Amino acid sequence: MGKIVKLDEQLSNKIAAGEVVERPASIVKELVENAIDANSTQIVIEVEEGGLSKIRILDNGDGILPDDVETAFYRHATSKIKTDKDLFHITTLGFRGEALPSIASVSYLELNTSTGDGAGTSIQLEGGKIIAKQSANSRKGTEITITNLFYNTPARLKYLKTVHTELGNISDIVNRIALANPEIAFELYHNGKQMLQTNGNGSQLQVLHSIYGAAVAKQMLPIELETIDFQVTGFIVKPEVTRASRQYMSTFVNGRYIRNYSLARAIQEGYHTLLPIGRYPIVVLNIKMDPLLIDVNVHPSKLEVRLSKEDELTTLVKEGIQNVFKKTQLIPEVVREK
Ligand code: ADP
Ligand code: MG
Repeated sequence: MGKIVKLDEQLSNKIAAGEVVERPASIVKELVENAIDANSTQIVIEVEEGGLSKIRILDNGDGILPDDVETAFYRHATSKIKTDKDLFHITTLGFRGEALPSIASVSYLELNTSTGDGAGTSIQLEGGKIIAKQSANSRKGTEITITNLFYNTPARLKYLKTVHTELGNISDIVNRIALANPEIAFELYHNGKQMLQTNGNGSQLQVLHSIYGAAVAKQMLPIELETIDFQVTGFIVKPEVTRASRQYMSTFVNGRYIRNYSLARAIQEGYHTLLPIGRYPIVVLNIKMDPLLIDVNVHPSKLEVRLSKEDELTTLVKEGIQNVFKKTQLIPEVVREK
């Protein structure tokens, strides 16, 4: 008799959860991305106590067919890719089929969903086990409620920070997702208090206004760059308005928020001496490129991606930003007259 055994599904989901669902904000991110992939135009996010006591996401998207509801909670079950060819041509935010089983394995989860034609389904899971399933109302869309988060992973629970920090992370991720998707109306509530509302009218400047207020939105300059491989649009703030943290620079590749050190540096180099030391700009860049040129499948959170032709992109961004400032002549009057 050998000693190696295959772990049961619930245990392997719990292990995967360690990577996919690090904290409440990662759950919010996964669930909101699912709502976006389902073509929602309105997404409401409600959290309590920094997401520690409750996370509820309501969307008006495609919903899940009654026959698919249980399958959605199987590991590596997805409606978004089918073949390995698709893996190199990802056009959705999700594709790994890991979020729902991972989240369910470390919480109490209730899902109500309907495709809008015929009855919907309501399902409850505890620690990844289905404990009940019923027919439900047929409002088109999906509602997911998570409570008792990390109740069965005490180490993870201990590692979480204060309500304030967890809420900060949630706010940050929702702000970025809202910026990347100005055509979707988002609402975020914490303990019943509204933290963000966007109107879904398609204007990224309007979303910037919702997040940072009118004074900042007024100081944003549009940017538009294009090469054969890349198309970049977005807004860069005038150098008078700076922040003490890098987190106000958001880069989106094909609608996905990514963190990329080289891109962040290119943005700062674009501003160069216009930025005081230790200060960072507010920047939103939407980069469109052939999905073949990016590898999203580097890490389960998909935050870090591998970009082909990264040098071409960083040069484009750096010089593009420099040109915006040359054009708007931010050099003080006195100097200009000489
Ligand atoms: P992935 O997003 O990688 O496919 P998930 O575990 O996040 O994997 O979700 C599994 C499947 O459940 C998705 O492929 C999708 O078909 C369905 N699903 C999840 N959330 C929603 C939602 N809000 N609306 C419609 N379908 C959803
Ligand atoms: Mg997903």
